[in-house]
Amino acid sequence: MIRSLLVPAKRPSAVTLRDNREIAQMREAGRIVARVHQAMREYVRSGVTTAELDAVAVDIIRSHDATPTFLGYHGFPASICTSLNDEIVHGIPCPQQVLTEGDIISIDVGVTYQGWVGDSGWTYAVGEISDDARCLLETAEGALWAGIDVMHAGNRLGDYSAVVQSYVEERGFEVIREYTGHGVGREMHEPPEVLNYGDPGTGIRFRPGLTLALEPMVTTGHWLTKADDDGWTVRTSDGALSAHFEHSIVVTSGAPQILTLL
Ligand code: MG
Ligand code: MG
Repeated sequence: MIRSLLVPAKRPSAVTLRDNREIAQMREAGRIVARVHQAMREYVRSGVTTAELDAVAVDIIRSHDATPTFLGYHGFPASICTSLNDEIVHGIPCPQQVLTEGDIISIDVGVTYQGWVGDSGWTYAVGEISDDARCLLETAEGALWAGIDVMHAGNRLGDYSAVVQSYVEERGFEVIREYTGHGVGREMHEPPEVLNYGDPGTGIRFRPGLTLALEPMVTTGHWLTKADDDGWTVRTSDGALSAHFEHSIVVTSGAPQILTLL
């Protein structure tokens, strides 16, 4: 049993599996998240402020008798996260922050509906963007889809991590390592942590009813990050562009299902 001396005895936190009724309720929360993204796709354009995007999102969420999960979460002051260009996640919408042609903006949306959470992020182009930015967006979104393809019962968490990492690195980019995906359900952040890099064949096995928020964050530069003085905004330490794509999904006995779609 020498191995147990070498490996820290850190017990993984318990993972909760959801039944069909609970999944149906999570899908309702996820559908509201998707409606917000549908609106963001229309509203993101040069001249719009990130505060205006936040207001649009709040209107949609409240009109569905739901609440914005992020608002007040550990004191977060807004309802969505808006992260521009070298910002990775947790950017705070602001009336002074105006979108400009060529920007990329990552918008993260969390909705709580009847006690269930949906969580999805997407990176949008503001008008025409550079070839480099376009390639980054395609790679980060492609990494999410490649990762979702791995979410079959019997596969392991590390299989997902390894696929996302290799998909990104084969295209010359890096995955952000200091922030992760997560379990999602009654709370926005539940066990397990879902790393976007790692080794296949490691970690917990996927079982039907496991609900996760998968969210590769990808940069054209180095994966090291730094936080702004606002205590929230996380950006690349070298100023390189970053993109973020996220869906909440459920593992089933067949193909994985995405919960944050219309
Ligand atoms: Mg999110
Ligand atoms: Mg998330």
